Order: sequence, then C-alpha cells, then structure tokens
Amino acid sequence: MEERSLGRTGRLNHAVPDHVAPVDMDGVYRAVVEHARDSFLIVDASGVIVFCNPAARAMFGMTQDELLGRNFGFAFGPEGEATPIELVAGGNPLFVEMVASRMSWQGQPATLVALSDITARRLRETELMIHSTAMETAASGIFITDRSGAIKWVNKALEQMTGFSRTLLVGMNAAQLGSGRDNETSYSEIAARLTAGGNWKGRLICRHKNGETYTVEQTTTPIPDATGRYSHFVSVQEDISERLRTQDRLVQLSEYDSLTGLPNRHQFTERLKSALERANRAGTAVAVMLMDLDNFKAVNNTLGHRAGDTLIQAIAARIAKLMRTTDTLARFGGDDFGIIFENVTDMAAANRTVRRILDCLKQPVMVEGQLLKVSASIGIAAYPKDDVEPLALIREAELAMYQAKGDGGQTFKYFDRDMDADIRRRVQLESDLRRALDKGELWLAFQPQLDLHNNRVVGAEALIRWNHPTRGLVSPGEFIPLAESSGLILPIGDWIIEEICRQSVAFADAGLEELQLGFNVSGVQFRQRDLFQQVTSNLNRAGLPIEALDLEITETVAMERTQRVKENVDQLAQAGISISMDDFGTGYSSLSNLQAFPVKRLKVDASFVRGIGQNRDDEKIVEAVIRLGQSMGLKIVAEGVETAEQQQFLRDRDCDEMQGYLLSKPLPPDQFVRFVQAHRRVA
Ligand code: C2E
Ligand code: CA
Ligand code: CA
Repeated sequence: MEERSLGRTGRLNHAVPDHVAPVDMDGVYRAVVEHARDSFLIVDASGVIVFCNPAARAMFGMTQDELLGRNFGFAFGPEGEATPIELVAGGNPLFVEMVASRMSWQGQPATLVALSDITARRLRETELMIHSTAMETAASGIFITDRSGAIKWVNKALEQMTGFSRTLLVGMNAAQLGSGRDNETSYSEIAARLTAGGNWKGRLICRHKNGETYTVEQTTTPIPDATGRYSHFVSVQEDISERLRTQDRLVQLSEYDSLTGLPNRHQFTERLKSALERANRAGTAVAVMLMDLDNFKAVNNTLGHRAGDTLIQAIAARIAKLMRTTDTLARFGGDDFGIIFENVTDMAAANRTVRRILDCLKQPVMVEGQLLKVSASIGIAAYPKDDVEPLALIREAELAMYQAKGDGGQTFKYFDRDMDADIRRRVQLESDLRRALDKGELWLAFQPQLDLHNNRVVGAEALIRWNHPTRGLVSPGEFIPLAESSGLILPIGDWIIEEICRQSVAFADAGLEELQLGFNVSGVQFRQRDLFQQVTSNLNRAGLPIEALDLEITETVAMERTQRVKENVDQLAQAGISISMDDFGTGYSSLSNLQAFPVKRLKVDASFVRGIGQNRDDEKIVEAVIRLGQSMGLKIVAEGVETAEQQQFLRDRDCDEMQGYLLSKPLPPDQFVRFVQAHRRVA
C-alpha cells in the first residue's frame, strides 16, 4: 500500500493495478462534482445559473430549484485566477475564493464557477494579524529564534532596546545580544531547559549597539510545530536596568554614607554582627572603635558646612589608607566614625593602629586655602572581653570615646566598667547644675590683670565657680561644657551679666576705680541671646559706663559667620563695648578674619605663654602676636603667666597686659578687693 500513496514517502513510478483503471469517465466526473467540498456553478452568457452541485446548494442554503434560473450577480475575475468575494448566505457572511473558467454548456458559451469557502482561513489570518500586531507593538522586546538560536523575527521594542535595526537583528544569533558578562552556565542552562520543552526565565546582561550594558529579565518559551517538535522559541525581554539602578540607590542610601561613600552606622552594625560570629567560630577577638573629631563643630561654625564636609572627606580618606582589608571603617554621621578590627590577636596590635590613626591626623588638612589642625578622641571596646553583643560593644566604645574627649581629646581610651558610673555621674551633675543657680551655689572669682607699662591692676577676668553641696568646688572646665550642651548656659550667662554689673558697682564702692571687668561669653549666648540689648540694659540699670565691661569670646565663636553672631558683635562694637579675643592662637582665625572683626584686645593663649623660656617656637608665636596686635592697634593680654621670666619676656616685647598665677590666682570678691588695694599701695 505504501508505495502507492501520493504522500511524500511514496514512489510515483509504479504500475497502475487493473482493478482501479478508470472505465466510465463521465461517471467519475459526476461523482467528483457531486461529492466535492467546493461549490460548482455553471453560469450562462446572460449571467443566469444553469447548474449547481450539492456543495453550492449547501453554501447558499438553497434548494436546486431556488438556485437555478437565479442571476449569479458577481463579476468574474481573470480567467483561472482565484478572486476573493464576500457573500451573505443564510444570513451569515462568507469569505469565498472564486475561480471562473470559460466553458461550453449545451453548445452555448458559459462560465464554470468554482467557489471555496475560506471563511475559517480568513478568521485565522485575522487572528494571526491581531497577534502579530500585538507582538510588534508590545512594550517588551520580543524575538523568535529557531533551534540554532538564529533570530527569525523581532519586534519594534527589541530594535529600540538593542539599538540594532530589524534587518541586522534577523539572522543574528540570540547569544550575540548578550554582553558576554553572564557566565556560560546560564546559557547552557537555558538550552537544556528549552530543549526539554520547559520555559526559561531569568536575568541576562545585554549589550546595546552603543556598547552600554543593560539588564533584562527574559522569558523564553518553546513553540512546537505540527509534528510536536520544538522548532521555534519566543523570547520576551524586559529592560530592568532602571529598576535595578533605583534598587541600588536605595541600598546605597540605606547602607552607605553619601559624603564619604563609607558604610553607615546601620551597615557597620550588620558587619559587626558577622565579624562577631566569625570571631566566635575562630576564637579570636574583635576591637570596636568609635572616633570623634575634637574640634569639628568649630570648623563647621567658623568656616561653614562645605569646609566641614571637605574636612570629613579628607580625614576619611586618610584613615581608610591605614585599614587592612579585613577592617571596616564607617561614618556614623557628623564627625563620628566607627572602626571594626577583626582577628585581633593581642591588644598591642590594636594599640598600634589607634596610635597610627591619631598620628595621621597630626598632619594639618588643607581646607579652602587654610591649614586646619585636627585631632580625634577614640574609644575602644573589645569582644569578647567587654561584651558579646554588637550594640552593647558600640555603646561601650562610645562611652570610652566620651571619656577620651573629657580628658582633653587627641587620645584613646579602652572601655572599663567604671565608665558607666562616670556617665551616671555626669547626668547627676547636670541635674544638680539646674538647681545650682536658684540655690546660690554659683559665684564669680576675679583674676587681676596687670598693665605692664605702669604696673597697675587695671582690670580682672571674672571666672565662674560652683560650690557643689557634696562635691565641693567643681571646675568650670567640667560644668561649662555640660551647661553649653544642655542649654543651661543661657540662664547661667544671664546671671553672670547681672552679677558682674553688681560686683563692678561693689568694687567701685570699695574704692577700686576704673577697673575693667572681663567675662567669658559662650557661643551659645551669641547665637541665642540679644547680647547688645542685655549688656546695655544691665549697664544702664547699674549706672555703669560702657568701658566697665569687656566681653571675652573665643576665636572660634568670633569667626562664626552666622547672621546672629555677626549682628551681636557689630552692635556691641558700635556701642563702644570692649571685646577681647580669648585663647588667641588656638583657633582657625586668619589675619583677614581678624581685620574684619571689631576686636579691641587679643588674649594670647596660655599654652604659648607657658613655652616662654622653654620652646623657641612658642616664643616666636608670642612675639609675632604682640607685633601683629600692635600693628593693628590692639591691646595684647598675656594669659597664664606663672614665672618672672615670662613676665620679663613680655615686658621686653611691649606686651600691654598680663594675668596669671604669678600675679594672682582668681580670687573671691572680698579677697580680690583686698588684693587690689594692697597692690596699689605698693605700686
Ligand atoms: P579661660 O577663659 O581661658 O580662663 C582662664 C583659665 O586659666 C581659668 O581657668 C584660670 O583660672 C586659669 N588660669 C589663670 N591663670 C593661670 C595660670 O597662671 N596658670 C594656670 N595653669 N591657669 C591659669 P578656669 O577658671 O578653670 O576656667 C576655665 C575655662 O572655663 C575658662 O578658660 C573659660 O573658657 C571657662 N569659663 C570660666 N568661667 C566662665 C564663665 O563665667 N562663663 C563661661 N562661658 N565660661 C567660663
Ligand atoms: Ca577667658
Ligand atoms: Ca583664655
């Protein structure tokens, strides 16, 4: 049987068996026409239907009687060519392909019309058309490949995604869309899944025509042909690069500090957790360090936030260079940094690194044309010695850092249990200080100031004292920073101004004429109080002249460019109230800053005065400051003069005034009065 079939596998060259040889050709034609699926009509020269087969009757839904004699009504196309016509039969629209052939019917010319119903094919075509339009205009990139991976069809979106035109894409291999940055396994994995008839879904990194890479999420589905073989594959690509970038940015924001690019506090804590787990397994130690710059606020306030940012970046870069690959350096915000040292075998190693950090900061940093001196305070807590919990270790390192700061900075401290007690003490002290004002525990001591030209006591600096009910005398070095950070400095500062006016009147009453009393004003007061109004109204109330007082403000506060500070300074200076620049030489003021600032006196910081007779550099600085002040018409006051040698040095260089233990310690008011009286009698 096989050999005789018309199908592809059959052979055509064979003998025709006897029993199928045609005998009655008319009968055969009739049978074909009667049983054909196509409709046959014969239309005579006048256009009237003269013959129809059963298929035609079925197509039009009419009987033979109804059809015959009817006008055909359709124009014939060219001889033998298929012409599409649309007709309505039995109320339904039909798409029909018509082939008209000339013939002769009962001796007359006529036309044989063959009609085949192509409605189903048309519907399929329309459907395909809709599908392909949808694919063509879809927002996702779509391409169809054959088994070899050759691209057969692409849509518009894929042209846009890849940058290649359709003509270039068709014929390319799908692998050529890749960037080569995906590992081989993903491609072999794709092939394996697809040939097994499964879908593949995953991410691929592709390369645009312009060379840039982008990431897609791709779904590839095998399409079986009529025989069930997977001959083609449809891939849909979604460009997710933008989404990934947004995700990256969010991760970056949530885990890294934007100024330095270092991990942030959150990320630091996460890394510390893993470091502790590793250390636990390996039986090693971990050191947690917290670092805070000692004078960062001053830089921020005097030079502005941009300078502060630059400084932080420079410091971060310097310290990063000292880190080993296993260490973590993080920025917690502001001038706070965190460091994790893993694999600490002995604390001596951690010690050395901390020293290296402090040393590397000694080199001044160039910021906006100024050389800034920076130093830091570092606190260290160790795992497992101090604690095993990350957050506890961070808190303990922080406590140790505060301790280092309290010791004057530029140093490091290991956490120990007593520090907890220390913090509690500080909190207690703050609440004590709140009541100190009302209870009258605060008072002013006065340190005499000597005019070196005529050897007369011409003034005094008022220095605050606190008689704590249980602790005795607490030094201002301890409670002034506390008062500043808690805001208590404002009521305390108000009290100082009132008190100093009261004392000034009392000193005059005791016969001490023309004493100028200096008092220290904190930056917080300059920022939050109307000092001009406050000082003048207190002077007026006490009936004191403008020259009775002198405001000491530190260099760093004086250089602050904020509106409020400038206003205060300008108003005070315009009213003729004397302003001294305190601790001169320790801050960041430059000569040009100084010229713009209406100051009357410069107080040379005690740290330089102390070096007189011992350190040539200090002597040079003192000399330079004196000359600078003289050239600018300022009074120079030397602080902390303790030896006769220092006094002589200052006198030889024409320094105007001095104060210090050599002359007198700060004294309670009554002792101060007696001291000045005695001094004047001798002089
Ligand atoms: P300061 O303004 O630089 O005050 C000078 C400090 O040096 C005073 O310390 C004084 O007692 C000390 N001193 C004076 N002569 C000598 C000396 O010859 N040798 C040594 N070693 N020290 C000397 P004190 O009274 O402990 O004050 C410390 C700081 O506390 C002051 O530094 C000032 O910044 C602040 N302070 C003191 N009183 C007040 C105040 O009423 N208001 C404000 N805001 N701050 C104050
Ligand atoms: Ca002072
Ligand atoms: Ca001072």
